[in-house]
Amino acid sequence: MAGIYVHIPFCKKACHYCNFHFSTTHSLLPQMVQAIAQEMELQARLAYIHEPIETIYLGGGTPSLLNHEQLQLLFTQIHRYFTVTPHAEITLEANPDDINHLQLQHWKAVGINRLSIGIQSFQEADLRWMNRAHTATQAVHCVTLAQQAGITNISIDLMYGLPGASNQHWLQNIEQALALQVPHISAYALTVEEKTALHKMIEKGKISPVYDEHQAEQFHLLVHILESNGWYHYEISNFCKPGRHSQHNSNYWKGVHYVGFGPSAHSFNGVSRQWNIANNALYITAIDNNQLPYEIEILTPLQQLNEYIMTSLRTRQGIQFSHISTNFGQPFNEKLLHAVAPFIQQGLVQSTNDGIQLTQRGKFFADGIAAALFQ
Ligand code: SF4
Repeated sequence: MAGIYVHIPFCKKACHYCNFHFSTTHSLLPQMVQAIAQEMELQARLAYIHEPIETIYLGGGTPSLLNHEQLQLLFTQIHRYFTVTPHAEITLEANPDDINHLQLQHWKAVGINRLSIGIQSFQEADLRWMNRAHTATQAVHCVTLAQQAGITNISIDLMYGLPGASNQHWLQNIEQALALQVPHISAYALTVEEKTALHKMIEKGKISPVYDEHQAEQFHLLVHILESNGWYHYEISNFCKPGRHSQHNSNYWKGVHYVGFGPSAHSFNGVSRQWNIANNALYITAIDNNQLPYEIEILTPLQQLNEYIMTSLRTRQGIQFSHISTNFGQPFNEKLLHAVAPFIQQGLVQSTNDGIQLTQRGKFFADGIAAALFQ
């Protein structure tokens, strides 16, 4: 089984914290959709992946900006060039201000059966400094609209550790999320990326900085509340009701193959990783000339092992020694045990039946611990 990712690199507004690849000028949007549709044909000819498709994910950017005809074109191409399994999970990333009755009907008509909604916060003041396009009222209303339209497989994105936001403020966001009865929540610590408007605002003292301790506190608060309410914390940033995990993202962490379309999209087939150029105009020109504008890297066994360490450490299951000995050789387990010893002593990592996993406290330091375990 494999996955498809489609990147739609356009947004209504530039959120002040965002460093993804997107443009707020939409003049190239129609040409972009044509180019992505053509890329699907070009990639299919190359047969980068062979397996049937069990998950499709439209991300961005803001794919909920696409109109019905544009979505229909993309799905026609996907079904023409790939074999999609009958019960495939098909997710659309949607912003609250794009969700309305008509769009929901269009999304259902092309087969979208899951929404990942970029809410970030239910509080107006947060949404304004973030420069989000939606309001707090829309943040709540859009979920109800989707549920009424019959799309109940909904994930909402939230951000914690916001500048100056108290734990009480964060608790209100969690309570509102729980009240909406969605089966999935993705929660991310706000990161201040260089070259973003947020970075400049903090430098100029227009907004307070973010603090690790503050973010760690709010992360642990979230984990505690959701787990006490029967939620399953299956990956550092992801929580679900039993059985309602994101199949697409879980497959990334399991090393399942996927092909990505659109500028900046990545693909992985177990042997190589490739990524498209992150420039809208150059991407369209290349595709118009029947060229795939990507760079490719053949992964060495060591790179594959490090990828496994990085992704599996973030999951509840953790790193499995049996997986390492089967795929990379037993000596790597010995090295790993040596490297992990200080983290076990500090109470950040613990042993499982067949490997190691992060402790509750260690989850907040996942990236640093993974880097220290790289072989
Ligand atoms: S809508 Fe999403 S991708 Fe677009 S600028 Fe905001 S955070 Fe970034």
